[in-house]
Amino acid sequence: DAVVLAIGQDNAFPWIERDIGIEFGEWEMPVVNRSTFECSRPGVFFGGDAAWGPENIIWAVAHGHQAAISIHAHCEGRDLTARPPQGMTLVSAKVGMQSWSYHNDYDPVHRQKMTHEELSKRFSDIGVEVELGFTPEQAAHEVQRCLNCDIQTHFTAPLCIECDACVDVCPTRCLTITRNDSPLEELRQRLSAPALNPDQDIYLSDALPQTGRVMVKDEDVCVHCGLCAERCPTAAWDMRTFDLKLPYAGQELVLR
Ligand code: SF4
Ligand code: SF4
Repeated sequence: DAVVLAIGQDNAFPWIERDIGIEFGEWEMPVVNRSTFECSRPGVFFGGDAAWGPENIIWAVAHGHQAAISIHAHCEGRDLTARPPQGMTLVSAKVGMQSWSYHNDYDPVHRQKMTHEELSKRFSDIGVEVELGFTPEQAAHEVQRCLNCDIQTHFTAPLCIECDACVDVCPTRCLTITRNDSPLEELRQRLSAPALNPDQDIYLSDALPQTGRVMVKDEDVCVHCGLCAERCPTAAWDMRTFDLKLPYAGQELVLR
C-alpha cells in the first residue's frame, strides 16, 4: 500500500499509466467519487487538490478523513457508500436578554500587519521562519475583526407577537411579515427587499399565532448582525452558534 504525498502548484498526472483502470476527465484530472473519494479503479483513493483541483487546507484535511473512512471500509470489505452520519448543533449565544457570548459590534479596526524576519537573515538561512507572528496586542485586535459567521439567526414562530420591531431594525431589510397565500415566486417580489435570486432559498416560518401570517427572511442579504434578536421582546429571534459535526476517521462522530 502507498500514500503519495504531493506538494506543488499544479496537478499533473503523466506518471499514472492510462491503462490501469484510472479514468481521467476534465483538465486531465482523475474521475473521483465525491462521496467515497475512490476513483474508477477500486481501492485507489484521491483527496486534496489531486481530487478536484485547488481548495484550501481545511478541505484537504476533510478529504483525508473521508478517504481514510473509505480505505478502512475497503480493507474490511464493507460498502463504501454507507457513510457514517453527519450532525449539527445550534446552541443559543444568549447570555442575558440583550447580551451575547460573542462580540457583535462592527469593529472598524484595520487588518494587523504581520512582522517579517529581516531579509538578511532570510537570505542567510533558507529554512528560517519568515512570519514572526502577532504580538498579544495585535492578536487581540485581529480577533475583533471576526465576522462570527458561525452565528446564525434562529426563529421560533410561536413566540412571535408580530410587533414588527425586528422588521424595523433590520439594516438590510431582509425580514418581512406577510400573508402566505400566493405562489413563492410572487411572494418573493413583495418582500421588504424583493428576493430576486431564485437560487437562494428564502426562510418561511410556520404560521404566526396572532394572524396566521408568516415571517420571511432572505438569507442572501442577512449580515448576521443580531439586531433582530437584540430588539425582539419575546426572544422569538435568537442568535445561535452553529457547529457542524463531521465524522472523522477512526471515530463515529467527533465533537469539534
Ligand atoms: S441578523 Fe441583522 S441582517 Fe439578519 S435578519 Fe437580523 S437584523 Fe436583519
Ligand atoms: S421583534 Fe420578535 S415578536 Fe416582534 S415581530 Fe419580530 S420576531 Fe416577532
